[in-house]
Amino acid sequence: MTRDIATELSHHAYQPPAGFEAPQPAVHKASTVIFKSVAAMRARDWRHKSGYTYGLHGTPTTFTLEERIATLEGGTHCVLVPSGLAAIALVDQALLAQGDELLLPENAYGPSRDFARHELARWGIAHRLYDPMDPASLAGAIGPRTKLVWIEAAGSVTMEFPDIAALVAAARSAGVPTALDNTWGAGIAFNGFALGIDIVMQALTKYPSGGGDVLMGSVVTRDEALAERIKLTHMRLGLGVAGNDCELVLRSLASLPLRYAAQDRAGRELASWLQARPEVARVLHPALPGAPGHEHWRAHCSAAAGLFSVLLDERFSAAQVDAFVDTLTLFRIGYSWAGPVSLVVPYDLALLRAPEARSHLRGHLVRFSLGLETVADLQADLAQAMAAAFG
Ligand SMILES: *Cc1c(COP(=O)(O)O)cnc(C)c1O
Repeated sequence: MTRDIATELSHHAYQPPAGFEAPQPAVHKASTVIFKSVAAMRARDWRHKSGYTYGLHGTPTTFTLEERIATLEGGTHCVLVPSGLAAIALVDQALLAQGDELLLPENAYGPSRDFARHELARWGIAHRLYDPMDPASLAGAIGPRTKLVWIEAAGSVTMEFPDIAALVAAARSAGVPTALDNTWGAGIAFNGFALGIDIVMQALTKYPSGGGDVLMGSVVTRDEALAERIKLTHMRLGLGVAGNDCELVLRSLASLPLRYAAQDRAGRELASWLQARPEVARVLHPALPGAPGHEHWRAHCSAAAGLFSVLLDERFSAAQVDAFVDTLTLFRIGYSWAGPVSLVVPYDLALLRAPEARSHLRGHLVRFSLGLETVADLQADLAQAMAAAFG
């Protein structure tokens, strides 16, 4: 019988120490792991991470969280890294070599582009941008040196939802592996592997943590050869995570489906309310009809993150928009999302997107992420700040 992910995450396999029947996993912390004999030390297996060799390469706590994240994503192998950005960098470093080319969507998470532009470039790895809303643009960008295609759904900040299946098909037909940044979907909104993705990465910092108090990333695969490639690079780069941080994510993981659903509901309610406001030119929320890629969201997803952007009308000045953001009291100004506190960030579209990629976006862009506050209070906060800033 297949069970829903909420049930699966609450009843995930875990073997407590003999005589101590508690479902909560223990927190193990160690650098040194003692071997029983020289023969046991020589027989150690770092490559497959099937046993314990050294704290950096895994403890019962990190293995437990890896198994649960693999279950969440519908994959078989997972490695944990100290941040979402480190997960992106790990995938790039594991799959790319000098002379290779990487393809990124033009609305990719900014630091992922920066990593390609400033770090990969120094190692002779080039990158190109494709239009995620046009699978033909991806097909046209793939060349003989293309070794990896990143896909993001929804795209960062401007929230376009691509036709993931069509992008995967374009990469597949050229024999190029795809990696999905699944931070928005969190393993809840849709399943990346079911859509043909090869590698699914997530910033556990966001929904799986849910607390705004831990930074972590994951990389999940379900192909043996890919998993081994990533694990070896992971090991050689010295990437590892702390037991206490794993504990925070393990504790939050069972409530992930509930939090995601609540923040989805709140996000759609506020996005719909904002869409009807005269100050707002456009709401960029993939679950709202008329948003870029709404039809793909409908085809691929059963839910949406509590994260969306609005375009405030062009008639307002940049100073008025700043005043609006400054006047909000419950929405706090800061990066990241999916914690208990609602957040707001104004973005400069001119710095974010090339002119041809932002022609459909007119106005001042402000991104909101929903926390766990009551929606009526958040709505009242938006209303008072709009009245103060826009008159
Ligand atoms: C936050 C985020 C990341 C990076 O995660 P960190 O843990 O903050 O490094 C990567 N991708 C997306 C889409 C994100 O929102």
